[in-house]
Amino acid sequence: MIVAMQESATEEQIDNVIEVMTEAGVGVHRTTGSSQTILAGVGPTAKVDLAQFENMPGVEHVHRISSPYKLAGRGFRPEGTIVEFRNGVKIGGEQVAVMAGPCSIENRDQIFETARRVKLAGGSFLRGGAFKPRSSPYAFQGLGIPGLRLMREAADAHGLLVVSEVMEISQIEPMFSLVDLFQVGARNMQNFNLLRELGQFRKPVLLKRGHAATIEELLLASEYILSGGNYDVILCERGIRTFETATRNTMDISAIPVVKKLSHLPMVGDPSHGTGRRDMVAPLARAAVAAGADAIIVEVHPNADKAASDAAQTLFPDQFDKLMSELKIIAAAVGRTM
Ligand code: PEP
Ligand code: MN
Repeated sequence: MIVAMQESATEEQIDNVIEVMTEAGVGVHRTTGSSQTILAGVGPTAKVDLAQFENMPGVEHVHRISSPYKLAGRGFRPEGTIVEFRNGVKIGGEQVAVMAGPCSIENRDQIFETARRVKLAGGSFLRGGAFKPRSSPYAFQGLGIPGLRLMREAADAHGLLVVSEVMEISQIEPMFSLVDLFQVGARNMQNFNLLRELGQFRKPVLLKRGHAATIEELLLASEYILSGGNYDVILCERGIRTFETATRNTMDISAIPVVKKLSHLPMVGDPSHGTGRRDMVAPLARAAVAAGADAIIVEVHPNADKAASDAAQTLFPDQFDKLMSELKIIAAAVGRTM
């Protein structure tokens, strides 16, 4: 259930409503927008009589949430979520942010040179996996925490933020101070224990869509994080598996406006995993920005052909520069800044 408070509602009136909801056995999630406070009730709301709230002082309106995702739905934050980071970077507002870097952190020179080029081109996040979910156990598995320390150093040296994948609960604590944004990869989109645990922390999470997940399943997965009280969740379309074999995955561009309509959460496009082909990354990145993506995450490596993972879809820095100048034009054309 959603209880939307009047703009003029006092703290005392809001507290009274929260108390009555709690007494009814409902879990309360509060969000305060620029004009009004919204209280979302989750749990056994079917038996709650909504009329009793309608007449409480300060209440504007009350309604049931018909979708299965209660906190990820637009109704919880009609004006949209903006996730704020250091350096004034925001995801979900007017600005389109760019996250770029190698698939995997490989060594000091590689990550420092990538950071330099990402910053120079106008990116705001350095991406790079320290823990890699590889299809084969014999493939490069990542450098782990020592690799992440290198990335943190490189990012700090160039004024960038860090996004990196967390694969299991035991990695959260050692990663916590080294990342600005936890990435949950496609393969872990429904690792519910991991999602629940990330809901207990106050650090933003980038949740990638599973290769075979519907948009509803993606939104339900985000609900595991949100219901823990961590509302800084950013979703990501990274391509789904279809009958088409021309590209590694099929980048579902339509998922971007669909998610933006159904949910208040920011949405990111990943054209690297979305296509798996270097020559298709730029067109799909442009399409994602045109379709309303709040950020783009792209694989870039100084020696892209020799990347330890995902070489075929990784851009050379010069290609990334060109893409950035194109994205600025598209962003402006759809009323965004970059
Ligand atoms: C990655 O970002 O390198 C990655 C493994 O992504 P995904 O989980 O989307 O495959
Ligand atoms: Mn990759």
